Amino acid sequence: MTNMKRVALHEKPRLGIMGGTFDPIHYGHLVAAEMARGEFDLSKVLFIPSGTPPHKIRRDVSAANLRYEMVELAIKDNPAFDLSPLEIERRGLSYTVETLRILRRTWPEYELYFITGTDALLEIFSWREAEEILTMIQFIGAARPGFDASDFLLKVQQEHPETLGRIHYLEVPALAISSTDIRARVRNKQPIRYLLPEPVRLFLQQHGLYDAE
Ligand code: NAP
Repeated sequence: MTNMKRVALHEKPRLGIMGGTFDPIHYGHLVAAEMARGEFDLSKVLFIPSGTPPHKIRRDVSAANLRYEMVELAIKDNPAFDLSPLEIERRGLSYTVETLRILRRTWPEYELYFITGTDALLEIFSWREAEEILTMIQFIGAARPGFDASDFLLKVQQEHPETLGRIHYLEVPALAISSTDIRARVRNKQPIRYLLPEPVRLFLQQHGLYDAE
């Protein structure tokens, strides 16, 4: 019954693409993905850790295989979540436009929803082929509590009316958690338990991640 209702609501099944550096993945990301899945009726959410993020060449980002393994540990108990090595296996910088082209070829029957942080989305006009990206798929900006997106939305709608209805916002209270804060806590020997799944906490401890960033 539920499936019949869903088919009637929108023509194509929807696939969520969770793009991020995930250094490390934490409960904010997981809650954002699960909320987006429910809110936008996504059949599945595919996590794609960035390989070499184009905007982070100067900051030391943890090795892609370690970030990938942490995502794998974090999502394994959710059958609606999946993981793709697409960006970490590709040579060179991880441009989202290239990833989306591959995904559209791989999942032609799905409508794609790219989920990422609103802070990242605010920079979208600096991304490679930004205007192309904005007309290719739908975007969901996962916002930290209290984030006001109205100025950005207004600007986008005025300057790029073709993107109308393609950028959505989702307030995610759990995004009070941040990877930057977790890294700083590890460095300062403060507790991080309950901010991220326990297997991920143990993994980063075993690998000495962020100890001396
Ligand atoms: P970032 O600059 O590290 O993150 C910006 C903010 O968004 C941070 O507050 C971050 O929180 C949050 N965030 C990032 N991913 C999120 C997610 N999936 N859900 C909820 N919050 C998230 O951004 P990034 O992680 O490197 O990049 C985000 C995505 O945009 C990636 O897929 C990346 O490849 C893409 N991107 C593409 C280009 C391009 O094509 N030129 C340029 C920039 C970014 P945390 O630190 O807690 O994660």
